Amino acid sequence: MTEISHHIPEDILDTYRAGTLPHAFGVVVAAHLSLCDECRARQEAGDMIGGALLSRAEGAALRPDARDRIMAALDAPPPPPPIRGSGVFPAPVMAELGGRPPRWRMLGGGIRQQILSADREGSLRLLYIPPGKAVPEHGHRGLELTLVLQGSFSDSEGAFHRGDVETAHDAIDHQPVAGPGAPCICLAATDAPLRFNALVPRLLQPIFRI
Ligand SMILES: [Zn+2]
Repeated sequence: MTEISHHIPEDILDTYRAGTLPHAFGVVVAAHLSLCDECRARQEAGDMIGGALLSRAEGAALRPDARDRIMAALDAPPPPPPIRGSGVFPAPVMAELGGRPPRWRMLGGGIRQQILSADREGSLRLLYIPPGKAVPEHGHRGLELTLVLQGSFSDSEGAFHRGDVETAHDAIDHQPVAGPGAPCICLAATDAPLRFNALVPRLLQPIFRI
């Protein structure tokens, strides 16, 4: 397996740890953590620092047993995920799929997607891109996190393989192209509708909710 070389940025990991990351992005982070020892170690180190700060805090407003209860909660093992990973899909993605395989919707050119969730804070989707095919060129009004689950893609930012995360901010215009071999399957979270450059995809956007 190719080593992971594109990780979750520190500020996003901090927000995830604080529990304030919108759902769509939280699922991408959780899925990356399930594949990446390095980020899992950073995450656990951050939790330990948080616990140490908490133990030094002089919480006058806290009930006397509050610190013990919080520390016990931090020490408690996380509950087991209710749904296990399957195939290329880690447990957090299978949970979004309700434990079932994806039900792809055709977008044309062999590209498929399934929207997993969408609300005002962001949307989460799975994308399936045949080898050598490009996702229509687009920029972003907000943040996009894309995690590769199978195959690979490359764009102006580099090459991304299974486990790699691309972090695209609104300044980036990019056109990801799937690599050779297995179709590229990726999990993408966006916090605003994508802004397509070509006229036709822009007309299709309301239909496909890209
Ligand atoms: Zn990582």
